[in-house]
Amino acid sequence: MAYHDALTDLPNRRLFKERLSQAIKEAESEHRMMAVMYLDMDKFKHINDTLGHDVGDELLMQFGKRVKRNLRQSDILARQGGDEFTILLPYIEHKQEAIQVAERILHSLQEPWQIGNHTFHTTSSIGLAFYSENGLTRNQLMKSADAALYEAKSNGRNNVKLASTYFSDKSSL
Ligand code: GH3
Ligand code: MG
Repeated sequence: MAYHDALTDLPNRRLFKERLSQAIKEAESEHRMMAVMYLDMDKFKHINDTLGHDVGDELLMQFGKRVKRNLRQSDILARQGGDEFTILLPYIEHKQEAIQVAERILHSLQEPWQIGNHTFHTTSSIGLAFYSENGLTRNQLMKSADAALYEAKSNGRNNVKLASTYFSDKSSL
């Protein structure tokens, strides 16, 4: 399971990085744009604390499945760790396409969860970065999307925030 997350069975951080590197090479040679998202559940700790860790685990599994239903076969969803997930949309024509996907995901994550005897709602936050506007390398893109997620959290959570940064740190090439 060196490339997969044991709980959700999704690609893990390591596989995501490899796929992102490959995709950047392709996008560069084909002069295409791509989108990278960082996605994190809001107040997930509260679920663990009030409903228990097992419900939290089941929620993470259902969360992954629900996000996946909003994606295409060619998109890549990975679990980075905890309640943090990343998405690569390697084939988009316009920024608006990715923004719509992000908003659709956010909306679907507001639908109620049914786990055991419990029915409850959660919200999530998304940071969205674009190749090549917000970074040319894997690390730059992930940093940009992560910074946007941080802004989405600061902005009251339950929203999509577009990256405004451009990381040009040559050491991350
Ligand atoms: P925020 O809105 O800022 O994201 O708040 P949060 O409570 O979601 O905070 P954060 O994202 O930092 O919390 C992640 C929590 O996820 C902390 C940790 O206890 C819990 N966690 C991490 N891995 C697992 C796991 O595999 N299973 C369960 N049930 N909980 C996990
Ligand atoms: Mg969280």
